[in-house]
Parts: sequence; structure tokens; C-alpha cells
Amino acid sequence: MRIASIIDISLVDVPSIPVTVIFTGGCNFNCPYCQNASLIPLDSGSEREIAEVVRETRDYLSDGYCITGGEPTIHRALPELLKALRATGTSHINLNTQGSVPSVLETCIPFLDSVWFDMKAAPERYQEVTQSKSDPWPRVRKSFELLLDSEVKLWPRTTYVGNLITPSDIQRIFEFFSEVGFQGPYHIQNYIPSEGVRSEYASALTTADRSEVEAAIVNSPPGITVHLDWR
Ligand code: SF4
Repeated sequence: MRIASIIDISLVDVPSIPVTVIFTGGCNFNCPYCQNASLIPLDSGSEREIAEVVRETRDYLSDGYCITGGEPTIHRALPELLKALRATGTSHINLNTQGSVPSVLETCIPFLDSVWFDMKAAPERYQEVTQSKSDPWPRVRKSFELLLDSEVKLWPRTTYVGNLITPSDIQRIFEFFSEVGFQGPYHIQNYIPSEGVRSEYASALTTADRSEVEAAIVNSPPGITVHLDWR
């Protein structure tokens, strides 16, 4: 499968667990604020054998793995990679996904411990915000429900982008959580301009005021613990 890069150890990608981070190449969304825009093209990264990736990473001094991208679930070989990583005896495998390929995600679930799930926007704004050719929301919703029905720790997370995401998006995400019965942590992080964002989009995006988001989370539903990861 296409691998863009590998970081031997990271202390910030999974709470309390040092992990090796594997970046896959290619994404089926085109979010204007993407911090890894160089990984969006489907031919980004290079084709690597799974056995070779496992060999390279197995001796790193981490306690687990985080698979991110790009969007890892666009790769049909992802379950095979996860299975091979699990066979190393690793204690934790985390996946970052936006959930648009439930058919692949479903086959990954037996090998996962936790998932950071990108909640992009209000359901009715998904196609606009992700600049997708068709509305991905029904597939995203299916993925969320698959994880909710599993033993995998589900950590939804939203990047709050000034001039793009609004308090009503957060409200609608809360309504979705209530509708499907999700309870647990929900992380909201602020967008920060970086070199990875394409210049044609960067000028229109801002870092939102923390106070705007604080006001938006006052009415979070019971059972949802909101974490403002303000950087
Ligand atoms: S889903 Fe993630 S990797 Fe894909 S374009 Fe959006 S921010 Fe970038």
C-alpha cells in the first residue's frame, strides 16, 4: 500500500502511549484547511510491501502504532497491515479516519484499539467542507455507527477553522451524538496556519477565537465531555 512516511516515536498522537506513526498516501477528501495537503494526491507516497513496513517499525522503542494520512481507509490493504502489526504483539493500534469508507473500516475493527474520528462539520455541510464530488455523510455516519457498536475506543475530534466552521456546526454534531447515543470524550482543536496548508486556501482561513467555541459548547449533551485542545 502507499506509505508517505513513518515517524519512529511520537508522544502526542495517542494519550499516554508512545506510538510509531505511519502516514499513508492519498485522500478522497479535499479539505481546504488540510495540514498534510501534499498527501492528498492518490499517487503520493510510495508503494511499500506490508512485510517491509512491519520489519522497519518493529524494533522502534514505541508501545503502539498510529495509522494516519491522508486517509488510511482508502487502501484495501489496510486490514492486512493492521493484522501484521497486531501480530508483532504491539499493545495498542490507533487509526485516524474521516470515516468515508465504511466497507474497509469494518474489516479493520478487529485489529484496532482506538480511533480518532474526524467530525468535519454539520452533517448537511459535509460535501461543502470536504469539497467532495458526492455527499460523503451517509458513509461517514455508517462508519461512526460501526465503531459505536464495537469495543474500539471512539474519540471524535473536530478541527475548528475560523471562516469555515461555526458554532452551529458544533451544535449539529452534538445533536448527531445524541441521535446515535454516543457518550464519551469529544475533542475540538483549533486550526493553526502551517506550511502544509495550500496557499490558495490559507489566506481565507483563520484561527477562531477560543471564546466563540467556549460559547458553542455550553449546551453539550449529557455524557459528552468536551476537551478544547487549544494550541
Ligand atoms: S480528510 Fe484529512 S487528509 Fe483528507 S483532505 Fe481532509 S484534512 Fe486532509
